[in-house]
Amino acid sequence: MCHITLKTILREVHPIKGFVYQSVAWDPVVPKTVRVGVSERQGCRGICSGCGKKGPGYDRQPERQWDFIPFWGLLVFLVYAPRRIDCRKCGPTIEKVPWATGKLQICDVFRLFLAQWARLLSWAEVARSFRVGWADVYGAVKWVVDYGIENRDLSGVVALGVDEIHVGKKDKFWTLVYQIDNHCKRLLWIGNDRTEETFDLFFEVFGTEFCAGIRFICSDMWKPYLNAVARHLPQALQILDRFHIVKKLNEAIDEIRREESRARADAGLDPLLKKMRWAFLKKRCNWTKGQRRRMRDLEGSALRTLRAFLLVEAFQHFWTYASPTWAGKFLDAWCAKVARSRLAPLKKVARSLKSHRRLLLNYFEAAKQYSSGVVEGLNAKVKLTLKRSYGFRTENAREVALYHALGKLPEPIFTHSFF
Ligand SMILES: [Zn+2]
Repeated sequence: MCHITLKTILREVHPIKGFVYQSVAWDPVVPKTVRVGVSERQGCRGICSGCGKKGPGYDRQPERQWDFIPFWGLLVFLVYAPRRIDCRKCGPTIEKVPWATGKLQICDVFRLFLAQWARLLSWAEVARSFRVGWADVYGAVKWVVDYGIENRDLSGVVALGVDEIHVGKKDKFWTLVYQIDNHCKRLLWIGNDRTEETFDLFFEVFGTEFCAGIRFICSDMWKPYLNAVARHLPQALQILDRFHIVKKLNEAIDEIRREESRARADAGLDPLLKKMRWAFLKKRCNWTKGQRRRMRDLEGSALRTLRAFLLVEAFQHFWTYASPTWAGKFLDAWCAKVARSRLAPLKKVARSLKSHRRLLLNYFEAAKQYSSGVVEGLNAKVKLTLKRSYGFRTENAREVALYHALGKLPEPIFTHSFF
């Protein structure tokens, strides 16, 4: 049997270059707290916190302690008295310790550990579970995200998706840019508005070399985005996203249903449309038994909502075409039919589809490779993350949370994974 101590374990999982674990002891005052004494390896000079070069030590600061990863319900601290360095370049400074960053009183490995848990739990739960403050968790996630953004590989990005998302306050939108390649789907960038200038900023940040590699860009019909894309990615195939079109069509049905419900109520007619909202927004095959029965009852009625539903349902066929030519013919016929329908909200969508005909048909040019599911899936994840981060005091925290959850960012590397 090989005898091990906590020191042996620490040396194995968290070796510190130029330092040794000296002692492990209970804290004399605070119960259930372990203090791990660290000292410099003999002959190893300290590193100047100013320039990062080694220099002779001449004195010590008082002992300080750093939060380490707790275990078995015990808190753990590294304890060390940093040397004052007589740096040739910077003059007298304090040494930089390799286990923590700057003046922070928390070890880097612990910060990574907190950030990794913050992907699974809410930040408040992480703080509670590991007995740190909320700000520590935020700081940890931010640190990992900053590292990730700094070190991520942006080569080989061919397909982009752009989307706006409603955040917090009324009329407040963010622009999210995703990579939607088959081999990698991730959030690349967050812009603080949804104007043309916002999106311009993305292209500026990522640079011309990056832009030149983009072959496909998926977006909705939001004019400012379309403008920015046309200017910065002249070579890319611009594709209108299926997900957003389906959403627009559903919004039209919803508007028609609301109007009609109200009109029927005002006229004292039978409230046929009551509690039917979801049935009209679903595909037929997803109806529940009850919804199927009620829809059968409506059949043959002259309800405007039903007519709108049937027109939108017919549009689904559009996505099944393989050839852009035939898809185009179908689109024209469908738009003509809607134009005669006297359903104003739906007519508006049809007009907009017609005016973006070319971009819509690009969906078929790109062999349907990039669209729908991808942005939709990422969107759902964004909503979930924002929901979980509800109550965050600042927009910065929300932004960091999104990058952390969806950025697929590389993380700082340590000898051992504590997660
Ligand atoms: Zn220095």
